[in-house]
Amino acid sequence: MCKPSVFMVLGIATGCFWQVGEEEIEILRFLKQLGGIDAIELVFAFPQELFDFRQTREDTAFLRSKKYVSIHAPFHEVEYGKGAETKKMISTLDSLVLKIGAKHIVFHSDCIKDFSVFDNVNFVPLVENLDSKEGVKRIIMVRQVEDFLQGHKNFGFCLDIGDAMLEGINPKDFLQFRERLAEIHIHFPQGFEGKMKPHGSPSKADKKFLELAKPALSAGFPIIFEATDFFSFDKGAVEKELEIVKSLM
Ligand SMILES: [Zn+2]
Repeated sequence: MCKPSVFMVLGIATGCFWQVGEEEIEILRFLKQLGGIDAIELVFAFPQELFDFRQTREDTAFLRSKKYVSIHAPFHEVEYGKGAETKKMISTLDSLVLKIGAKHIVFHSDCIKDFSVFDNVNFVPLVENLDSKEGVKRIIMVRQVEDFLQGHKNFGFCLDIGDAMLEGINPKDFLQFRERLAEIHIHFPQGFEGKMKPHGSPSKADKKFLELAKPALSAGFPIIFEATDFFSFDKGAVEKELEIVKSLM
């Protein structure tokens, strides 16, 4: 049942539409057509996408009209360290958060080589639990999140429900970090038992995953929809999936 709460904030990530093959700004403009969206997460997979992002005054006004706006920092072909590229990324992110009124930026911890890059920034960096990837040391388990948050007091937490379920972890186990929890990502395992993939839509997901997602979805944190199984800008199809998520909140 849907509880009528002021905390019910449902939003969508631009990353949902990476398979459409359009530029970030075009994705953002498509999102303006969607009804019932209270939050936006701008996702920059590669550093160049971040550097190329040019918003108009209308785009900025659209973002500022939302209850919650966040950014997902580059996570492909990137290393946050002492180099010039990191400097440029951090300063670009720093000015972008001020422009669009974002507070949080999600990072993948395995891309960070030097945590001092976050010493004097205008935003709160968030670490996200992920699914496992061969050859990469990622933060997946509850215990790993705990260790990370203990070691990095300036970081908040982004709970990724889909990645937790894919790894066989009950998403509600992560709610013990609610003091540090800033936002929640929702997508669903897709495919068949034994070779499940992340980032599926709820209409195609196993019912057991819909049930498992409920406690975290209704915990009162901003929810960002992150399914990526869209191949065109189909307003009706996206709104249908968002309705299902809403019914679980
Ligand atoms: Zn995520």
